[in-house]
Amino acid sequence: VGSRFSGTDEESRRRDAALRPKWLREVIGQRKVAERLAVAVAAAKKLGEPLGHILFDGPPGLGKTTFATVLPNELGTSIQMTSGPALSKPADLLPFLTNLEEGAILFIDEIHRLPRVVEEFLYPAMEDYRIDIVLGEGVHARTITMRLKRFTLIGATTRSGLLSGPMRDRFKMHEHLEFYSVEELAQIIRVNAAKLQTPITPEAAEELARRSRGTPRIANARLYWARSYAAARHEGVITADIARAALDMAEVDPEGLDKNDRRYLETLIELFGGGPTGVEALAATLNLAADTLADEIEPYLLREQYIIRSPRGRIATPRAWRALGKLPPATPSS
Ligand code: ADP
Repeated sequence: VGSRFSGTDEESRRRDAALRPKWLREVIGQRKVAERLAVAVAAAKKLGEPLGHILFDGPPGLGKTTFATVLPNELGTSIQMTSGPALSKPADLLPFLTNLEEGAILFIDEIHRLPRVVEEFLYPAMEDYRIDIVLGEGVHARTITMRLKRFTLIGATTRSGLLSGPMRDRFKMHEHLEFYSVEELAQIIRVNAAKLQTPITPEAAEELARRSRGTPRIANARLYWARSYAAARHEGVITADIARAALDMAEVDPEGLDKNDRRYLETLIELFGGGPTGVEALAATLNLAADTLADEIEPYLLREQYIIRSPRGRIATPRAWRALGKLPPATPSS
């Protein structure tokens, strides 16, 4: 179920790859992060050293993979990509580590989902560019050490809190990606519409941007949908009216909340009286994994203050009640 929200299905992966910036200067927004990376890249080149290991964290679709794939271009090196769930044992990492050329990048997505044994196997690789391989068992076991080329590990995670302390400490840079402003998303939409040779008015780009949950991946999906809608029902140009009609049809409400956001708020308000409600109870009622709620739905609702987190669980704010067309309950103090 989670993949539907994160847009990690094949179709959206292909679209993401087609629209992904190739150079740091093409990356829109996240200026501070981009500047720090530019410094790190320039230093690595001048000093002839590999880039230090970097950890990116933040909600899905905000550009973690984009930054990771831009860096090898800037450095003139190669990248190998894998993910935490794909690495169930240390041996799964071996082909990646031994294929790395000097200064190359190894990207591990969802690094918080690495099994502990694999994580521990990575420590000496990150620290000293070596791995220890244990051969045999019990009293006959012996360890051989293998040297690796100097490389850069880039980890991406939606939840840096789930990463072990020792793992986190081994990254030289920690970069947190934040939600994008409407202006930044509108710029991304205009640039990507041009890549797709789709005419779009500035007002339409802003309408799509306002309804994209602060997330470039969602902005891309809204653009693709509006483009199809404009082609099917009109002459192909995306105007503000066409953008609005396309998003209404996709059940994205005027504030930009989608079906899942509304289901979440409806459950919290109609079933649980607005909370406080534990995330497990919400997840069970919505028939979704608690991780999906915490990673993909709640960060935006929290940021936009539709909900707040309390020690006893999630609470709907007056804004959430109003978004559902309901009158917020009077607060006890007023
Ligand atoms: P994450 O790895 O954080 O889930 P991605 O890097 O895959 O997110 O981003 C999804 C898509 O959004 C990318 O393919 C790209 O088209 C777009 N995108 C993300 N961040 C930016 C950015 N800063 N500037 C332009 N496009 C972006």
